[in-house]
Amino acid sequence: GAACITLGVLVGTQHGGGFAFAAVMAGNWLVVIGYALIFIGVQRFSGLRPRAGTVLLIATLSVAPVLAMPDLEADAVARGVLVGAVMGCFSIAIAATLAGGGGVQRLTAAVFAINAVMDFAYGAWVLVTPSAAGPGVEGGWATTVFLVWTIMMAFVTGAALALMVSERLRDELDRQASHDPLTDLLNRRGFDLVAEKLFASRSRDLQPFSVLMIDLDHFKRVNDGHGHEVGDRVLTHVARTLSVHLRAEDVFARWGGEEFIVLMPNCDAAQAAEAAQRLRAALAINPSSPRVTISVGIASGDADDDGLTGLKRRADGALYEAKACGRDRAVAAGATTRMAFESGGLG
Ligand code: GH3
Ligand code: MG
Ligand code: MG
Repeated sequence: GAACITLGVLVGTQHGGGFAFAAVMAGNWLVVIGYALIFIGVQRFSGLRPRAGTVLLIATLSVAPVLAMPDLEADAVARGVLVGAVMGCFSIAIAATLAGGGGVQRLTAAVFAINAVMDFAYGAWVLVTPSAAGPGVEGGWATTVFLVWTIMMAFVTGAALALMVSERLRDELDRQASHDPLTDLLNRRGFDLVAEKLFASRSRDLQPFSVLMIDLDHFKRVNDGHGHEVGDRVLTHVARTLSVHLRAEDVFARWGGEEFIVLMPNCDAAQAAEAAQRLRAALAINPSSPRVTISVGIASGDADDDGLTGLKRRADGALYEAKACGRDRAVAAGATTRMAFESGGLG
C-alpha cells in the first residue's frame, strides 16, 4: 500500500509528453488504491475478513469522478477536494479499524487519524484558497505541500505498520514461550516468571502465601485405556474446571505432564486447605469422562519463610504423601500442623 501511494504521487506529477491528464488520473487512482490496500491489510490484521474486491472497487469508483474533471488547472480545486476526502475517509477507516489496540498499534491508529485531518484540511484549504490548488508540484503550493506530506506519510505509516506486525509477532512468541498450548494455562516458565514477580513485590509485607501442587491420579490408565486424545481432553477439562474455582489473583499453571500448580497470594494454610477441597469437590461435581481424581499437596508460609522454591518443595513433598496415603486427597505440609483430608465428605 505504501509503495502504491508513493508510486501514485510520482506518476501523478509527470505532466510532460501530452499525457498530463492521464498521469493525474493514474496517480490519484494509485494513491487511493494504496490506501485501500492498507485498509484491507489492517482488517486482516484485526482478525476481520475483508472483502478485498469490494474495497478496491469502491476505491476505484470513488476516484472515477476525476474523469469528469479534465481541466488540470480549472478543475484542480474539485479534484483536490474529492481525492483529499477519499484519502481522508480511508485513513479514518484504517484508524478506526486499528483503534482500541495498545502499543505500536495505538500509535499507528493515531498517525492515520492525523493523516485524515491533513487530507480533509487539504480539501478545505484549496476551497478557501483556490490559487493554492493546481496540478502537481509545479501547480499550487497547497498541492505541493500535500504531495510531500503524502509521500512522507507513506514512509511513516509503512514503518508504523511494519513495527505493529513485528510487535504482534513478538507478543505471540512471548505467549508461546510462557503458555501451554493444550490447556492455554501458563507453563512452568510462565509460572515462574509471574510467581517470582508476585513474590518480590509482596515480600516486604508479610502476607501468607500458599502453593498447591495438583497431580491427576492414575492418569496413565486413562491414556492406556482410552488413548492419548481422550487423555488430552481430560487434561483440558480438569484445567478449565479448576481455573473456574480459583480466585483472580491465584496463579494457575500446568507444571508439566498431568501436574498443575497454584500459587495463592494472601492465603494462609486454612484457606489453602479449603481451596484444595473446593477444587476436589468441583471435579467431583463436574467430572471428566472418564472420571479422574486429583491429589493435592499444600504448603503455606510467608515470603520470608522459605521463599517460593521452599514452598514448591514442601508442596511437592505433601503431594507425595497424598499419593502414598492412597490418592484422591489433599495433604498439607508441615510436621506439626500436618492435616490430611480424606477423600470422603465432599458431597
Ligand atoms: P499417579 O496417581 O501416581 O500420579 O499415577 P499416574 O498414572 O497419574 O502417574 P504417571 O507419572 O505414572 O503417569 C503420568 C501420565 O501422564 C504418563 C503420561 O503419558 C501422561 N501424560 C503426561 N502429559 C500428557 C499429555 O499432555 N497428554 C496426555 N494424554 N497424557 C499425558
Ligand atoms: Mg499422576
Ligand atoms: Mg505426575
